[in-house]
Amino acid sequence: GFTINRDYLCSDHPFTTPTIYHSSAPSSLRSSMATMTFDGHLSFDDVENAAKDFGNRYHLMPSAVLHPKSVSDISNIIRYVFDLGLTSELTVAARGHGHSLQGQSQAYQGVVIDMESLREPEMSFHIGEHHPFVEVSAGELWINILHESLKRGLAPKSWTDYLHLTVGGTLSNAGISGQAFRHGPQIDNVYQLQVVTGRGQMVTCSEEENADLFHAVLGGLGQFGIITKAAIALEPAPRMVKWIRALYSDFSMFTNDQEHLISSANSFDYIEGFVIINRTGLLNNWRSSFNPKDPVQASQFTSEDRILFCLEVAKYFTPEEADHIDEDVDNLLTGLNYIGSTLFLSEVTYVDFLDRVHVSEMKLREKGLWEVPHPWLNLLVPRSSIHEFAQEVFGNIVKDTSHGPVLIYPVDKSRWKNRTSLVTPEEDVFYLVAFLSSAIPSSTGKDGLESILTRNDRILDFCGRPHLGIKQYLPHYSTTEEWRAHFGTQWDVFSRRKLSYDPLAMLAPGQRIFRRSH
Ligand code: FAD
Repeated sequence: GFTINRDYLCSDHPFTTPTIYHSSAPSSLRSSMATMTFDGHLSFDDVENAAKDFGNRYHLMPSAVLHPKSVSDISNIIRYVFDLGLTSELTVAARGHGHSLQGQSQAYQGVVIDMESLREPEMSFHIGEHHPFVEVSAGELWINILHESLKRGLAPKSWTDYLHLTVGGTLSNAGISGQAFRHGPQIDNVYQLQVVTGRGQMVTCSEEENADLFHAVLGGLGQFGIITKAAIALEPAPRMVKWIRALYSDFSMFTNDQEHLISSANSFDYIEGFVIINRTGLLNNWRSSFNPKDPVQASQFTSEDRILFCLEVAKYFTPEEADHIDEDVDNLLTGLNYIGSTLFLSEVTYVDFLDRVHVSEMKLREKGLWEVPHPWLNLLVPRSSIHEFAQEVFGNIVKDTSHGPVLIYPVDKSRWKNRTSLVTPEEDVFYLVAFLSSAIPSSTGKDGLESILTRNDRILDFCGRPHLGIKQYLPHYSTTEEWRAHFGTQWDVFSRRKLSYDPLAMLAPGQRIFRRSH
């Protein structure tokens, strides 16, 4: 066992409630940093954007923002802070696309590195090899990688539901979506990384080379270094997608079918699902993008006062496969137990399928409903607990799903790599359950932030029962005890790695796991 100095831990961290902090760099810091030269630039004035994120609840003002143009810009700033040693409390946070939920990419009075400025290296494709891959800057958005790869007939294998996120940001968490049952999360589909550690050293790492750092950084919540470059696995890209939804009222039938689909050798290419509680006109809303298989019966289906479970699956295909794709889909659907009248199908391009959440984003932006508080809650629930969980949470706690989607789908980690920093339940099969709520600004009613947070607390209270074995995904805690419990047996390794790669604990302070040594 490894013990570390208690001061190093964040148990009495000051930021327990959402707060707006204003700060400016102390003049001594400002004048000494101002003498540094960068290929990009360091800004002390234009820093408000770095105090914002998608969650829209935490606003911690940094002292400066670095817009790097080279990897050495990043190692220079880290080495500078490292050399300040214990004389300073200065911290450094990489900011990808800032789509964190609780200030994880912010650094109060610290330096934020705007990773999207880093355009080095240019995207480069290695497609002659047996395992094609693309090398990208870690500040690259997944949507850009998709478009560039498709020009070569290729695409990454594993995605998130939304593509306007950076490579460095999702690899620091996991990147889990409907392809993860087959390919593992995005962190399982990376061949090599370049990382600048908390000592300012630039290190190339992979399964073969500096493997400890490689595993540390993947799912490592930004704690061990700044990812500057990644080599991402590619596969031949499909052109089109059959996208399918069908409803269940029986939870066991729903989960049995999902579990059957994720374990079958011949299955869909994407498997997710969501919960619908007490919604009106549900199937009518789907009609703008999906066609009911049985229009007459579908029009008679009512969703009011009901708890329904929607299976969402997709089958990819190429132009050569187009003449038998309908038959293939029918075969895959045979034997599933959804409510017959609720089968809805649609056919879209691969890009439109993968970028589907962006369409919702545009609509919400038009209505001013995108930049609102997002009190999201993501859980990983073991298979053996999912029925108890569903009964309490969907049956008692969540009264309706009007605040935003509630996703639920299983994965099987026996096919995943198991040496990354990602924390998962102990059982192989577990469900991702994601409450993706939006709060109406300044509402004090049930659609307001306080009410949704109270509901989340009730869910978390229930999930705290140890026999359930539930873990948070995109975890957020405020005490060391909670972080220790989250990591469980992985805590010793995680904290040992912290001491070796970021001994001053200067990196990603917004995760609130460790406190900057000073
Ligand atoms: P940021 O918020 O900028 O950063 C996240 C953390 O990583 C911070 O601690 C930051 O300091 C650190 N970091 C960022 N870049 C680097 C780097 N280069 N090196 C080291 N550390 C770094 N997640 C899923 O798994 N599946 C989903 O389907 C999914 N859907 C989403 C949909 C939406 C609409 C949103 C907003 C988020 C979704 N997420 C999903 C969560 C998302 O993966 C995380 O919020 C991710 O962190 C966002 O990436 P980002 O580039 O905005 O990261």
